Amino acid sequence: MIVVMSPQATTEQTELASALLRDHGLTPVPAKAADSTLLVSEGSGTPELAASVEHSAGVERVVVIPGSQRLTSRGFRPHDTRVTIGGQDGVTVGGTGFLVIAGPCAVESPQQMTTVVDVVADGGAGMLRGGAFKPRTSPYSFQGLGVAGLALLAEQRSRTGLPVVTEVVAPSDVERVAEESDMLQIGTRNMQNFDLLREAGASGRPVLLKRGMAATIEEWLLAAEYLMQMGNGDVVLCERGIRSFDRNTRFTLDLSAVAEAKRLTHLPVLVDPSHSTGQPHLVGPMSLAAAACGADGLLIDVHTNARSALCDGAQALDAAQFTDLMDRLGPVAEAVGRTLVQPRSRSLAQV
Ligand code: PEP
Ligand code: MN
Repeated sequence: MIVVMSPQATTEQTELASALLRDHGLTPVPAKAADSTLLVSEGSGTPELAASVEHSAGVERVVVIPGSQRLTSRGFRPHDTRVTIGGQDGVTVGGTGFLVIAGPCAVESPQQMTTVVDVVADGGAGMLRGGAFKPRTSPYSFQGLGVAGLALLAEQRSRTGLPVVTEVVAPSDVERVAEESDMLQIGTRNMQNFDLLREAGASGRPVLLKRGMAATIEEWLLAAEYLMQMGNGDVVLCERGIRSFDRNTRFTLDLSAVAEAKRLTHLPVLVDPSHSTGQPHLVGPMSLAAAACGADGLLIDVHTNARSALCDGAQALDAAQFTDLMDRLGPVAEAVGRTLVQPRSRSLAQV
């Protein structure tokens, strides 16, 4: 059962409603929403309890969802959530748009960023990606430029007008990354880093939550629940491949998880065809398939000098491959009732 308190509810009224739930064997946990408090209980209670809670002072409405009582579920919010990134001049994902986020895996240098971002912006991407804090499997691999990388990303954002997403790996960095970017990315290796989820949930920035490489859809949605419980409704999911026995691809892209997540949750779902397949020649076909199966957008690695890339060069599209993919993506998106998303104010013309 989810109890939505009215924005004017007093602390005493919220406590009274909680007490009523507890008296009936439920264990309500407070959650934040835009302007009100929610009381979320895993159990659904009886119809009589729902009716009496609904009549309690300060209660706006009571939602009882068949199955799990979740803020991420379509039972709580039947319509697709639209997440706006980069403020009113930015982009919106969810609904009828199809958002392509592209850029290098890692931010490496001012020159690398300018060259790659020109390709990505000219090709029609709606948003930029680039890692400043890199969670690398080996401690001897390039770990990212850190704070200096955030500055380079911000430079590209003001040059092009494209909002930026970048990964945050430590709870203590959330505030800084949130200040200098438009969207926080939580990577596959941190999907169940609950301290990080809570901090990102409280940051006020939209969050891109990648699926853990060995996480079930249920675990992925529960990780999103942590973000929403902290009052962050601007959550976007990203399927990025799961571990399987096959070594031809880096991971196994689970497109059925996209359609299933779209059925279960109102949150937008993106696909990362780069980290999942690990190979440029598979990025095109999987991008088209993602658009066809109902994904709300893509997260694509692009690099103009893959051999010298400091991270994941082997899977990056080059300029020609990216431009070609964008040309082929438009008609597929259109066939499923979508249009490619562009920021409301594009400033590349001024570059
Ligand atoms: C990335 O997108 O840069 C990344 C590290 O992805 P993942 O967490 O999916 O491996
Ligand atoms: Mn990478």
